[in-house]
Amino acid sequence: MESSTRIRILNGESVLSNQQLKDAGLKVTLPRLKILNILENAREKHHSAEDVYKLLIEAGEDVGLATVYRVLTQFESAGLVCRHNFEDGHAVFELSGDNHHDHMVCVDSGKVIEFVDKQIEELQHKIAEAHGYDLIDHNLVLYVKKKK
Ligand SMILES: [Zn+2]
Repeated sequence: MESSTRIRILNGESVLSNQQLKDAGLKVTLPRLKILNILENAREKHHSAEDVYKLLIEAGEDVGLATVYRVLTQFESAGLVCRHNFEDGHAVFELSGDNHHDHMVCVDSGKVIEFVDKQIEELQHKIAEAHGYDLIDHNLVLYVKKKK
């Protein structure tokens, strides 16, 4: 969804977020709206619970870290967000519904980089096929270090 198509109401919450929560079968509550707004509007797409918490604090919102965890888990169960469990317990959340992509994680900074590679996608199908299977899903994470 283009950000320009988001309808805003006076308190900064979007009407769209309201509908998204309802569509996901979740009751519209202020913490849920605020967290959904952070996920939709932040520059970065991948956030740990702590990242979301910090952004809320920066925005002057009074939402506790435990609430952030709880809401993100509810969002995950409702299919609104995907959780990626990277190495070392580094878990990040991103809004679902995006096109398929894979991730790289910088082991020094924790930065998450998205990529799509047509050859890798095709190769994975071929490998599954060679073993007599149809590929139904995959999860590829590269752990990287910035070149010196
Ligand atoms: Zn991603």
